[in-house]
Amino acid sequence: MSIQGHIAEMRRLAGRIGRPVRFMEVCGTHTVTGFRSGLRSLLPPGVQLLSGPGCPVCVTPTGYVDRAMAMAARPGVVLATFGDMVRVPGARGSLERARAEGARVEVVYSPADALELAKARPAARIVFLGVGFETTAPSVAWTIRQARADQTANFLVACAHKTIPEAMGALLDGGAALDGYLCPGHVSVIIGAGAYEPLARAHRVPCVIAGFEAADMAEGLVMLLRQVAERRGEVEVQYRRSVTRDGNPGAQAVCGEVFEKCDTEWRGLGIIPGSGRRIREAFGRHDAERVLGKDIPQAPAADARGCRCGEVLMGKVSPDACGLFARACAPATPVGPCMVSSEGACAAWHKYGTK
Ligand code: SF4
Repeated sequence: MSIQGHIAEMRRLAGRIGRPVRFMEVCGTHTVTGFRSGLRSLLPPGVQLLSGPGCPVCVTPTGYVDRAMAMAARPGVVLATFGDMVRVPGARGSLERARAEGARVEVVYSPADALELAKARPAARIVFLGVGFETTAPSVAWTIRQARADQTANFLVACAHKTIPEAMGALLDGGAALDGYLCPGHVSVIIGAGAYEPLARAHRVPCVIAGFEAADMAEGLVMLLRQVAERRGEVEVQYRRSVTRDGNPGAQAVCGEVFEKCDTEWRGLGIIPGSGRRIREAFGRHDAERVLGKDIPQAPAADARGCRCGEVLMGKVSPDACGLFARACAPATPVGPCMVSSEGACAAWHKYGTK
């Protein structure tokens, strides 16, 4: 069916439901596709699409950036990270600023690049910033396993990986008034559709896994509206060309071998039980927290004054409700992480929101 056909079906279903509905997308790529394609502006009146905690850089709390900076200050330590992370503000500025002031921070394109860096510079300790969801965790786990096999002891990971279904559950437990989730396609390739079933059952909330084309998202929204109209709360897959019920067993196995579950802090959402991954003791010599973090105090870290990223990530406010939006905070001068990442809600609103 064409996008126009999906829009017409959305209108019909929205009329049948007869009340406003609020869906949340939990994926930065969906956020950008919804804006860039114009799909958001075509939604029927009363159908609202909120952006949730689906941007990995955005949900990483200030305290993690501060600890990374403290590690970078140690003699012989080099931080290796994806480009987005260097611009995320911590309490004492960003890694980009720290680098300008002399800290050793290298931008890499993969954890394997960081491992190569460790092999090329054996006198240094290379700390890779392990940030992201179920999509990036397998490659980080594989690289840690490889470092152990190669005996590259100077390769370390500051692990802050997070898992999406727990955050979705925490939002509903916290009283978020949502009628359904548009679930992330890439994450679901790894974890499988079955990973959302406990959530859908517990909250009777519709969950539809959608692909990343505008037509995929439009069809996913039709499927969500149909569930609401039929008073169902189930897991359905629109992205059938890539997502199975059980996901990718190889990726799950390497993550299970290297990581174990832990509680972890999300920006805006606080500590969510079981939503983090930490490095197992068997791989402890590659765990930056075990090797370098013991003496770094766990200081509570507040977000920048006036920044409402936490509320944006919970779908409580739209970015333009923040008093800093497009004034003090813009892509060239980000105050919060949601303006740093191209997948952040504030950056997307800034780029496309007024068009
Ligand atoms: S506009 Fe900037 S300061 Fe405001 S919530 Fe977004 S990122 Fe934070």
